[in-house]
Amino acid sequence: MNKQEKIERIKELTALLNYHSRKYYTEDSPEISDYEYDMLSRELVSLEEEIPEARQPDSPTHRVGGEVLKGFSQVTHTVPLESLQDAFSFDEIRAFDNRVKQAFPNAEYVVELKIDGLSVALEYENGLFIRGATRGDGTVGEDITANLRTVKSIPLSLPEGCPSRLIVRGEVYMPKKTFAKLNETREDNGESLFANPRNAAAGSLRQLDSKVTASRMLDIIVFNLQSVEGAEFSTHAETLDFIKKMGFPVSPYYTVFNNIEDVISEISRLGEMRSSYAFDIDGAVVKVNSLAMRSELGSTAKAPKWAVAFKYPPEEKETMLEDIQINVGRTGVLTPLAKLTPVLLAGSTVARATLHNKMFIAEKDIRIGDIVKVRKAGDIIPEIVSVVKEKRNEGTVEFRMPEVCPVCGSKVVSDEDTPMVRCINSECPAQLTRSIIHFVSRDAMDIEGFGEQNVERFVNEGLITSAADLYKLDYGVISQMEGFGAVSADNLRNAVEKSKNANLDRVIYALGIRQVGQKTGSILAARFGTMKSFSEASEEELTAIDEIGPVTAHYICEFFANPHNISLIEGLGSAGVNMTYRSDKVSDIFAGMTFVLTGTLESFTRDEASAMITKRGGKVSSSVSKKTTYVLAGSEAGSKLTKAQTLGVNIINEEEFLGMVGGDA
Ligand code: NAD
Repeated sequence: MNKQEKIERIKELTALLNYHSRKYYTEDSPEISDYEYDMLSRELVSLEEEIPEARQPDSPTHRVGGEVLKGFSQVTHTVPLESLQDAFSFDEIRAFDNRVKQAFPNAEYVVELKIDGLSVALEYENGLFIRGATRGDGTVGEDITANLRTVKSIPLSLPEGCPSRLIVRGEVYMPKKTFAKLNETREDNGESLFANPRNAAAGSLRQLDSKVTASRMLDIIVFNLQSVEGAEFSTHAETLDFIKKMGFPVSPYYTVFNNIEDVISEISRLGEMRSSYAFDIDGAVVKVNSLAMRSELGSTAKAPKWAVAFKYPPEEKETMLEDIQINVGRTGVLTPLAKLTPVLLAGSTVARATLHNKMFIAEKDIRIGDIVKVRKAGDIIPEIVSVVKEKRNEGTVEFRMPEVCPVCGSKVVSDEDTPMVRCINSECPAQLTRSIIHFVSRDAMDIEGFGEQNVERFVNEGLITSAADLYKLDYGVISQMEGFGAVSADNLRNAVEKSKNANLDRVIYALGIRQVGQKTGSILAARFGTMKSFSEASEEELTAIDEIGPVTAHYICEFFANPHNISLIEGLGSAGVNMTYRSDKVSDIFAGMTFVLTGTLESFTRDEASAMITKRGGKVSSSVSKKTTYVLAGSEAGSKLTKAQTLGVNIINEEEFLGMVGGDA
């Protein structure tokens, strides 16, 4: 890479990591594994070290954690809740030791488990638990006292003789077994699943309703004494003994070593026992034991120099690939799925894994009957890493993609430019079921009470042969069906009726055209105004729109070239489904401007402010950069305000904002 390419890569990585940080910290739903995230983050750190002037103002490398969620009040931490520097090899641990030993040749270390949960600070006054907060951005966190009170292992009062003031820091986690049960129940109820115990713990703790938190059976391990009045300590191990005496659960292992090779053996030992702990861990933490040495060593912008986290590679297990099955998706793609001998992996039982496509299978030379290594990608979807060739027995069977669709029997076609194979029969029941599940889903037509099971049943019983049939259902018949009664049939009727009024962007998205997601649906609805003019648009007209590329344009035209789809749209139209776009735009006064909202707003919520901006043509972004036009700051605004000041971005308050909006009205 030349310098210019490196600068571009820095920009790209900054945006990518910020996106994944938001998914992970704010939305509790990561899309990539921690390992992948850490590798991207390392790449960015090393490029930034090489070209410091190219570091972006919103770079995640110098920042701790995520944003503070609205709905909770803010707590400023008296002692910051820092992050940790990480190490992925034992040599990096040795390098850490060298740095420490340069300053303190006789330093000792404590090695403890790194629990994968959510960091919190617990504050006690005169022996009573008075406040608990999340880490937030390290300086300001969310006040979640009420929720933490529901965590049974957090003592609400401390034993007699306790210090007058005490702040400890710990990791709240969801035990692996609780996590498995929670996801099972959610699956049965048709709710979305949590990616891993950490995200489940974070999601459970940041509930506005403490009853929900209480039902999630969270636990805690306390690992640090943040501050204390009325007691003195000289080592970290002593503070942990003291914390334990005060009634807090602490790490089951915290051993003191003075030799780095012993530290490394301990890291390996703890890692080997990984699956036996009740909680998930993502590493082991090595900390300088002497508190005096720690304060001498100090911290960098986001992590102490006296500690390092060794991160274990993602857990992998071996199991047998018993069979390869084919799943036919909504867009007709045939996806091979591995049926595995069930194996316990990173907290849940894995019995299936995606095999992506025929190229993936060929490249890894995966055969039915092989022993394979599996791991969770993004800690979410299990994936086959490799075949254990030494264990390959005779009689393994090479896989071939079927030539006909396993559901409808029609001939499949191979994509020209991808390794995908598709069934192109639009009446294929597999596609019909899936396309109707998509049609009724919350972000599309939002037909409540019409879950996957009902769709499958209605399709199987021949009650619906296209989405338009949803509007012709015979509720008399439905109320007689097993599991339905007059009330649920009536509720379904109401939900179906309500969906007729959905705005055009939803209707377009609901059609399930390849590459047309929610955002593209909105752009197309706003641009064409009616389904008729959208359906008649040529590829040239479509590609003339900034956000629409030639591939999407091609798929749209292909969709409308199919007579089945035209009759579907006619069917929907004559059933009374809305086919025109209702714009909620008020004016263009904010066209080309980007706003960032921060702090607590008094006269309206952040969502309301965002709507006021977008209705006037403006954009709302979650991070401040030089491109930000205005930062709208409420009370107790945090790091975004500081950043806006540093970058010289215009800062406005609510009154000024209302002035701008009001003037327009
Ligand atoms: P970190 O998780 O690597 O380390 C710091 C945290 O470790 C502290 O906040 C603390 O709460 C916790 N911890 C647990 N046990 C501890 C112990 N015994 N002693 C001290 N601390 C202990 O750093 P981070 O800043 O919290 O976040 C980075 C992590 O988040 C990385 O692992 C990264 O992969 C992950 N992440 C993942 C994504 C994604 O998309 N998958 C996105 C952003 C961040």
